[in-house]
Amino acid sequence: MIRNIALVAHDARKTELVSWVRFNAGSLKSCKLFCTGTTGRLIEDALKEELGDQCPEITKLLSGPLGGDAQISAMIAEYKVDMLVFFCDNLIMQGHQNDVMGLVRLASLYNVPFATNRSTADFIISSPLFHDPSYERIIPACIESYKNRKL
Ligand code: PGA
Repeated sequence: MIRNIALVAHDARKTELVSWVRFNAGSLKSCKLFCTGTTGRLIEDALKEELGDQCPEITKLLSGPLGGDAQISAMIAEYKVDMLVFFCDNLIMQGHQNDVMGLVRLASLYNVPFATNRSTADFIISSPLFHDPSYERIIPACIESYKNRKL
């Protein structure tokens, strides 16, 4: 079951993410949301408009270029994120490109359901597994193996 969702969008794609969040407000209201700073501010405004009192808890981390992406990466490595929606600007390099790449790498490593575009995000949120309390994400065996590697 998906409870903790991280949401991040670069400036050129914030409108797209906010529109996705509005469309899926009903599914998101039972989750805890973790967002980079500016994305979180826009999402909170939108969800308060959509849901009023039922707006879910939204934790606004640092702005992405100031360390927010790295904070979400750390949360993934501590098993605190069940799903990531990350709408990157694919047309320009970011000043914090290294953090962007780190976030993508850890989401992949930890087998986090991870959408980089709207249709993938729609498929994940509409999956029966999204609300299935018996579904547990498998943590890849390579993580334990790496911790116990012989040196
Ligand atoms: P922001 O950060 O939500 O604070 O704009 C997003 C990012 O650039 O990673």
